[in-house]
Amino acid sequence: MAKQKYDYSSQAKLFKTLMHPARLAILDVLRSREACVCHLEAALGYRQAYISQQLMELRGNGIVESRRDGLNIFYRVCKPGVFSVLDTAREALGEELQTDWPDKLPACDCPHCSQEA
Ligand SMILES: [Zn+2]
Repeated sequence: MAKQKYDYSSQAKLFKTLMHPARLAILDVLRSREACVCHLEAALGYRQAYISQQLMELRGNGIVESRRDGLNIFYRVCKPGVFSVLDTAREALGEELQTDWPDKLPACDCPHCSQEA
């Protein structure tokens, strides 16, 4: 096989990482701010182990990073450019951004949700 002039492997890897409904949902929750697994669990209704597994995938591919704060591990998007990719995909499909998560989730006891306003 002839060597390709341009290397598309990193782009293909990005799309491969994004090619997963749960990961797309997690990224949308992480749009506004960082969140811990329990928060993502309360927002999306997936099991914690499943969310952790998807976060590992996102982190392993450099899209998400984590920081520990006491007992909690918070995840945030470290490549905000992925949101442009998601927005463009949504626009191409004529779909609306899913934004009906309240800022504080009653079912969540992460520091953000349990903190008094
Ligand atoms: Zn929360």
